[in-house]
Amino acid sequence: QNFRVYGLDKKIDVGFKDVAGLHEAKKEIMEFVEFLKNPKKYKNLGARMPKGALLVGPPGTGKTLLAKATAGEAGVPFFAISGSDFVEMYVGVGASRVRDLFQQAREKAPSIIFIDEIDAVGKKRHDRFGGNDEADNTLNQLLVEMDGFPTDSSVVVMAGTNRKDILDEALLRPGRFDRCIELNLPDIEAREEILKIHLKPLTLSNDMTLDGYAKRLAELTPGFSGAELANLCNEGAITAARKDKESVDQIDFEVASERVIGGLEKSKKLNP
Ligand code: ATP
Repeated sequence: QNFRVYGLDKKIDVGFKDVAGLHEAKKEIMEFVEFLKNPKKYKNLGARMPKGALLVGPPGTGKTLLAKATAGEAGVPFFAISGSDFVEMYVGVGASRVRDLFQQAREKAPSIIFIDEIDAVGKKRHDRFGGNDEADNTLNQLLVEMDGFPTDSSVVVMAGTNRKDILDEALLRPGRFDRCIELNLPDIEAREEILKIHLKPLTLSNDMTLDGYAKRLAELTPGFSGAELANLCNEGAITAARKDKESVDQIDFEVASERVIGGLEKSKKLNP
C-alpha cells in the first residue's frame, strides 16, 4: 500500500481549531464537512455535490493540514498520497496505485482522498518534455476514477498544488476538481494566531506572556509560511536546550529565526 490512511481505527484528532487564519478557506470547505457528515440529506434533496476541491497556495500554507482537519471535523477517514509517489519507472504502477486508492476510499465512504503535489501527475499533457507515457497513464486513470463514481458516492477528492496554471485542463472540468480554494501566506494577524498554536506546547520564559511572544514574533516574520512559523517555534526551543536553559526566551527565537531564514535562503539558492 502506497498511501497513508487516518481515521479508520481511531478518530482523527485534528480539527479547524488547529488551523489558524485561513478563514475564507475554512468557510468554503465547511460545505464539504456538512455533506460528509450527512450525505443522505443531500441525496434526498437531489443535490449534486462537488466531487473535488483543489487547494491552491504556496508551500507550507496548510493545504495538507486543512484537508486533514476537514476529515477530522466530518469524522470520516482520510486517504493521503503525494503526486510524486505516482511517478514510477515501471509501466502501470502509477495507474494501479490510483485504482487501489479510490477502491479503498469507496469501501470506507464517506471519506476524503487527498493528493498532495497533484502537479507531479496532473501537468498539462502536451507540456511534458519528450512525452511521458507513464505519467499520462496515471493522469488518465485519475480522470477515469473521478468520472467513474457517481456524485452521490460521498467520496470527496482534494488535491494540493502551488501551480494551478500548469495543471491539465481536463482535471479542472466540472465533475472533477470543480472547486478551487486559495490559501495565501499569512498576514500579521494570521501569523499571530499560528504562532499562538505552536508556542503553546513550549516552556516560555516569563519575560512575556504567550500572547506577548506571539505578537512580537508575528511582527518579525513577514513572508513566513505557517510551516516556517511552526519550525521557528521548534528551533527556538532547540536553541534554548543547547544552552541548557529552562525556558525559551526572545533571544532564542531571534537566533532561531536567523537559522530558519538562512535555511530558506540556502534552499532558494539551491532551487532558484
Ligand atoms: P506543501 O505545499 O509543502 O505540501 P502544505 O501547504 O500542505 O505544504 P502543511 O503540510 O499543511 O502545508 O503545513 C505544514 C505544517 O505547518 C503543519 O503541519 C502545521 O504544523 C504548520 N501550519 C501550516 N499552516 C498552518 C496554519 N494555518 N495553522 C497552524 N499551523 C499551520
